[in-house]
Amino acid sequence: MEVIAGIDLGTTHSLIGVVEAGFPILLADEAGSRLTPSVVYFGPNGAEPEVGAPALRRRLTEPARTVTSVKSLIGRRPGETGPPPSYALAAGPDGMAAVPMDGRLWSPVEISALILGRLREIAERALECPVTRAVITVPAYFNDAQRNATRRAGELAGFTVERIVNEPTAAALAFGLGKDDGKSKIAVYDFGGGTFDISLLELTGEVFQVIATHGDTRLGGDDLDRALAARLEELAFPGGAAPPEARSRLHGAAVSAKHTLSTESVAEIRLPFLRGTESFDTTVTREEFEELARPVIDRTRTHCLRALADAGLTAGELDSVVLVGGSTRIPAVRRLVAEIFGREPDISQHPDETVALGAVLQAGILSGAVTRMVLLDVTPLSLGIETFGGLMNVILPRNTTIPAKAGELFTNAVTNQESMRIRVLQGEREMARDNWELGRFEIPFEPGPKGAARVGVQFEIDADGILKVLARDTKTGADTVLEISRSAVDVNDEAVERMISESVDHAFEDMEERVRTGEELKSRELLAAVDAALPAAGDALPEGDRETILAAAAAVRAALEGAPAAVLKAANKVLDASTERLAAVLVERAMDEAMARRGL
Ligand code: ADP
Ligand code: MG
Repeated sequence: MEVIAGIDLGTTHSLIGVVEAGFPILLADEAGSRLTPSVVYFGPNGAEPEVGAPALRRRLTEPARTVTSVKSLIGRRPGETGPPPSYALAAGPDGMAAVPMDGRLWSPVEISALILGRLREIAERALECPVTRAVITVPAYFNDAQRNATRRAGELAGFTVERIVNEPTAAALAFGLGKDDGKSKIAVYDFGGGTFDISLLELTGEVFQVIATHGDTRLGGDDLDRALAARLEELAFPGGAAPPEARSRLHGAAVSAKHTLSTESVAEIRLPFLRGTESFDTTVTREEFEELARPVIDRTRTHCLRALADAGLTAGELDSVVLVGGSTRIPAVRRLVAEIFGREPDISQHPDETVALGAVLQAGILSGAVTRMVLLDVTPLSLGIETFGGLMNVILPRNTTIPAKAGELFTNAVTNQESMRIRVLQGEREMARDNWELGRFEIPFEPGPKGAARVGVQFEIDADGILKVLARDTKTGADTVLEISRSAVDVNDEAVERMISESVDHAFEDMEERVRTGEELKSRELLAAVDAALPAAGDALPEGDRETILAAAAAVRAALEGAPAAVLKAANKVLDASTERLAAVLVERAMDEAMARRGL
């Protein structure tokens, strides 16, 4: 059996592990550490890049040569990568962010490949055998281009990438170990260095299903570091900016003070010779830090509430809330989670290792080393195409379980139209223009009357969450397949920002509308059934039931007149329940009649 490694390629830290003798284990480097900083240092004169802890140490003295948080560059343009890093950024040949270093341009894929290569080295040293296959995790919010980039990084590092897995899904997989069988619903709150994800999962026996996921790819502990570092800089250099090296030291001090404040109430900061010969000494209290941190931490709240709304769940219906990611060690984060979900979060998992452990388990499942559990994932955003009138036609709605395949048939809207443009969109907005264009292509067809040409469009998402769009001219059978490549993400900076935040903002209203539409259909079905069955039941119905049903039906009819989706849903439920005996009566009668017919 060939080993498959599980990898958590984190913004801040990365980990690698394998299943050995049926147990998932994380592998340590020569120094005994299982956490490898996701940091690469580029020495002068084209020296071999350093990766991990040595690179992190270089950061202090050579911030401009030390690349951190490369994950936040993946699939982004130079202006979209959040706050400026300590190193230079440039646009690569494809217009995407890249890092210039001594006249050479490093793409985020190449830099990530260096980190993955280092992890591979750690694994091969620990296992004393080649490790060439891997499962790699990505944030749930990564789009297709970013997933593809991660896969390419893995390949560049010499891995066959067996699967790309969502981080919260991996965390849930790890959490599911050793739990009793049976049905449960859990929330995975993952607050790391650069990303925040909240996912709601349903665990049935040994099967996980993500029922909703929300998050922000630019929200994490890094924001807390920056806030605290900025405060320290104000104190150390009142009214002016710190020189780069001093700034880098202040940043380092901010990170360690933040860590200290997770367990202590005061952190001391001592930076000798920060300002020439002058030292900088100060203290930060937990209260001071929490005040700075609150606006950042609070941003996770809306995502949690929206995920619950998407899943149609209340916090009380969850069986547990799991904390993942280094930033969940912060007491204020734990308090907020407890407040949002009305319960103490489960902290039984090591927050830095859960995702990696899940990746290892998934790898073990694929290699056959672990035989239990199946993983189901969902699409974080809706996917569709633009249709006539500039509307978004959703083909795969958000939170569709993947792998998934769905299609629709389109016709030419005007006579003698010679081609049809297919724009592939991702997002939750009603109008195509508000959504994110992933790519486009033209399907030519023979000119004919309106409605004569037919094009079947099929969306297929594989188990990695990677999208392939196929368009087929049904007359000629000619297929056009669109590969969603990075350069196809042809949108400007603000559009990306807008897409990420607005799609999330509007998803809530969209969901309400979608739920409402579904419930309306149900109401109509129920009312039609009641109208048909009540007279048929005659006086076989127990005393009072008819009145109860009529009252429930009247309530549904009233709710149909513009009541919120939740009210309509509740009314449907009551009506459905009230007809239980009616249904029983009808079934009984049908059986009596059937037996009578057979002369019994
Ligand atoms: P990622 O998945 O993004 O790589 P991690 O889960 O490794 O992130 O979390 C890294 C973040 O956790 C960093 O911002 C780090 O500063 C923070 N962190 C780690 N330990 C602590 C701690 N004890 N207190 C507060 N924050 C911490
Ligand atoms: Mg993480």
